Amino acid sequence: METPEKGLWREVLESKYGSGRQKKPSTWWKDLTKVRMSDQGDNWFNSNMIWKVGAGEKVKFWEDDWLENGQLKGRYERLYNNSELKDKSISSFGTWSTEGWKWNLSWRREWFVWEKTMVEEFMSIISQVLLHQGIEDKRLWNDPPSYSFSVKSAYDKLANHGYGVGLAVFERLWDLKVMPSALFYVWRAFSNRIATKQNLWRRGVARGDTLCVLCGREEETTSHILVSCKESNKVWNMCSRWMGISSVNHNELICHFEQFSCICLNQEGNRLWKSLWVSIVWCIWKHRNRVIFNQAKVDAEEIFTMAQVQWCG
Ligand SMILES: [Zn+2]
Repeated sequence: METPEKGLWREVLESKYGSGRQKKPSTWWKDLTKVRMSDQGDNWFNSNMIWKVGAGEKVKFWEDDWLENGQLKGRYERLYNNSELKDKSISSFGTWSTEGWKWNLSWRREWFVWEKTMVEEFMSIISQVLLHQGIEDKRLWNDPPSYSFSVKSAYDKLANHGYGVGLAVFERLWDLKVMPSALFYVWRAFSNRIATKQNLWRRGVARGDTLCVLCGREEETTSHILVSCKESNKVWNMCSRWMGISSVNHNELICHFEQFSCICLNQEGNRLWKSLWVSIVWCIWKHRNRVIFNQAKVDAEEIFTMAQVQWCG
């Protein structure tokens, strides 16, 4: 596994946006790293990276997806279980000689006769891979032919990620000037894939009550926590007052967003309000997490202030 601090995938972004150590790191870059690190990312970033194996010193033989069809560990479980080495880079699974690279896998026990065909097949697959002595393994953004990272390409991939929300919503979100992590979150919320109590319960991940973290009265569904809860409603009312509009808020998330998308008569104005909407939704969720994980007090005013700061930033 790559750690967030040292992940090789960062190299791609660093080459494009500079490392975080530089004076002015791109906000985009910084934020995309957050998408990757948080569970919101759903490992999305990693799933769009591919390995270009050099000498095999960085890539983990069983754990990394370097042969394109997923981890070898999962595809060849029986072999993995019988392997002496686990959690080691490719270069530990053979040696260099004058004739080049030679695979040398050691097993914990002898293979049974009926297993041998499988082992041979496996060896023939990995034998087709050419290692390159002295060359570093590289992580590339999977966007041929250039294999270079761009924000546009990242969005395109997000759009095709199967989040259950069609391109129409994507198109209305992607030109907003908001943090990718906020945008990504909203996307998941639109497709009802955020970790509300109700969703976790449905997936069988959590037991216990499904009551809203903010009000403690109603079931915590996506639309409830973000728009119809009496606590989040306070935030939306503050927002309306601040914007100088009066409106009856929709109880359903996407309708609520639609309403926000056409407050102004011009596109640029609507874009601004849509960005504010995204910020508010994102801040409500972050606040909700602070309440549940850090015992923070529910505070609508704080949420709205945070959202404004984020929106202006
Ligand atoms: Zn509530």
